[in-house]
Amino acid sequence: MAHRLRVMRTVATLRRAVMPWRKSGERIALVPTMGALHAGHLALVRAARRRARRLVVSIFVNPAQFAPHEDFASYPRTFDTDLAALAEMPVDLVWAPPVEAMYPPGFATRIVPEGPATAGLEDKFRPHFFAGVTTVVGKLLIQCAPDFVMFGEKDYQQLKVVTQVARDLDLPTKVVGVPTVREKDGLALSSRNAYLSASERAAAPTLNRVLKDCASRIASGELPARVLDEGGAAIERAGFTLDYLEARHAETLKPIAAAADGPIRLLVAARIGKTRLIDNVAV
Ligand code: AMP
Repeated sequence: MAHRLRVMRTVATLRRAVMPWRKSGERIALVPTMGALHAGHLALVRAARRRARRLVVSIFVNPAQFAPHEDFASYPRTFDTDLAALAEMPVDLVWAPPVEAMYPPGFATRIVPEGPATAGLEDKFRPHFFAGVTTVVGKLLIQCAPDFVMFGEKDYQQLKVVTQVARDLDLPTKVVGVPTVREKDGLALSSRNAYLSASERAAAPTLNRVLKDCASRIASGELPARVLDEGGAAIERAGFTLDYLEARHAETLKPIAAAADGPIRLLVAARIGKTRLIDNVAV
């Protein structure tokens, strides 16, 4: 049943709303999003509800994680539809700060992560990205002080980076990863899928198909380097420009040469038309 959602626009009102929950010992979970909500985000909400009585969903398109040439201005913004979807879920409040509330004039601090944030995957193609993410996530965690914060495995490197930052800064919040929600044909749900033309959409499941194929070949003993070379070629044949297709250690994201060096995660990023897609699977 739909309920009226409280939408907070200032840090002070957010804190006033959260404080009584904390005082009465209720667990709080935060689901950070950039809006344009889809079933992947809603899976994060459901996973959050299994851990905490109180749920906060943040909706904030974070300018700090977009480079000037990227899609900040055109990023899909569907706030009213997002609120309607969240009103059907057990969400207590939506934290939707205006940009000036997050980055007031004179703002001058950044969290600059290393370790998994410099693994040579997303960071190589989007050098500004992780400092933007961890700065805003750090702020969200300090503003909300949740017991749990939910992140999708869809953005696997991001999940590892945020986990590392929370540990390094002694944040009293457990970072929880949630499995990727996919279309029936395997394409990982993403707000950016809305950019795909019909023919690009038809080619898009290739990414997941190739990942799964590479994972099963590596698991059955083939050499990762060779399997990934062939996988990359198949992705390019489908019309993509490949940014990377790599086998990495699932926790450290360091390169691995053989299945025995695992646990292994395969990660891919590729561009088709104007859209950049990412995906990953476990081996
Ligand atoms: P975004 O709004 O794209 O920044 O994503 C917000 C959160 O939702 C991040 O933790 C993402 O990893 C997660 N997410 C996005 N797509 C999916 C998906 N298909 N399955 C699971 N989680 C997702």
